[in-house]
Amino acid sequence: MKNVRYLIDRLNAEKRLDKAEWTELFSSFDEGDREYAAEIARDISLSVFGNKIYIRGLIEFSNHCKNDCLYCGIRRSNQNITRYRLTESEILKCCDEGYSYGFRTFVLQSGEDMFFTADRICGIVSSIKERYPDCAITLSLGEKSCDEYKAYFDAGADRYLLRHETADKSHYEKLHPDDMSFDNRMDCLRMLKEIGYQVGVGMMIGSPFQTAEDIAEDMLFISGFKPHMVGIGPFLPHSDTPFHSYEKGSLELTLFCLSLIRIMHQKVLLPATTALGTIHPRGREKGVLAGANVIMPNLSPTSVRKKYQLYDNKICTGDESAQCRGCIERRMQSIGYEVAVSRGDYNG
Ligand code: SAH
Repeated sequence: MKNVRYLIDRLNAEKRLDKAEWTELFSSFDEGDREYAAEIARDISLSVFGNKIYIRGLIEFSNHCKNDCLYCGIRRSNQNITRYRLTESEILKCCDEGYSYGFRTFVLQSGEDMFFTADRICGIVSSIKERYPDCAITLSLGEKSCDEYKAYFDAGADRYLLRHETADKSHYEKLHPDDMSFDNRMDCLRMLKEIGYQVGVGMMIGSPFQTAEDIAEDMLFISGFKPHMVGIGPFLPHSDTPFHSYEKGSLELTLFCLSLIRIMHQKVLLPATTALGTIHPRGREKGVLAGANVIMPNLSPTSVRKKYQLYDNKICTGDESAQCRGCIERRMQSIGYEVAVSRGDYNG
C-alpha cells in the first residue's frame, strides 16, 4: 500500500490539497495514517481551545417534515412514526432546564414543518432571547427563503446549521427525491452566510453511493466555503426508509475526516455527533480525541425523544436531560477534558 502520510503533512503545512490528493488520501489510508492525523488534529484543538469542550443543548421541537430524504427516519413517507410538535412553552421549559445545567447555546432542530411559519419561529427565538440574552440560538430547520432566514436573524438567531449532505450534485440526487435540489441547498448556505449567521455545513460519512471522490469534493467545498461549523457523522440506516438495507458508515473514516477538517481549518467548530456516539459506545470520546471540540447533548423532553429517530438505535432516547448533562461531563473527564459554560462562539 502506498504511504499517504506525506499528504497529511502537506495538508498541515499548506492547509489545502487538490482533488486528486484528497481522493488518494481517502482511498489509501490505513489505521496508522488515521492515528497520525488524529494526533496532529488533537494538538491543534488543544492549542486553540485548551481542554475545554463546548456544549450545545439540542431541542428537537418537531418531527413533521414535508421532505422525503431517502436516508432519514422522519421523512414524509414514513407512516410508522408518531408525529409531534412542542409548544413554545414546552420549548422554553427545555431552555430553562438547559440553562440551569450550564448550557449557553440552544439548538432548535426540526423537520421542515410548515406549521412553524416565520412568525412562529421569530416569536420563539425572541422569547428565548428575552429570557436568556446571554445565550446563543442556533436554528436547524432546513431550506427556507432568504426573507425567512433574515427574519429569524433579526429576531435574534445567531447561527444556522444546514448540512450540505454531499458536495457532489449527482450524489446529492441519489440521496434525495426529485423535488429537492442541490443548487437550492447551496444557495441557502450562501444566503445564510451573507445574512451574517455563523453557518454550519456537514455530511454523512458512508452514505449510500458515496465514493472517495465525493468525500474529496466535500473537503474542497469546506475549504472554499469556510463554514464556522462542520457537523459530520456516520450514515446509519433507518429500518423504515428506502436505505434500510444499506451498510452503516465507518467509524474510522468518520474520525479520519474529523481530523483532516481540524487540520485544514484549525478554528472551526467541530461536533462529536450523536451518530458517532451511536456507532460506537465511546464514539464521542474518540471524536474529541480526533479533533472535535463540541458536543450537543439532547434537551428534548423524554416523552418525544424516541419519535425523533433519524436512524435506528439512536442513543440517549430514554434519558432525562440532567442525566445526559452528567453523562457528558463524566465522559469528557475520563479523557482529560472539561465542559465549558459559555456560548462557545466561532473565533476566527
Ligand atoms: N430538517 C433539517 C434537520 C435535518 S436532521 C435540515 O434539513 O437541515 C439533521 C441531520 O441528520 C441531517 O442533515 C442529516 O445529515 C442527518 N441524518 C439524517 N438521517 C440520517 C441517517 N440515517 N444517518 C445519519 N445521519 C442522518
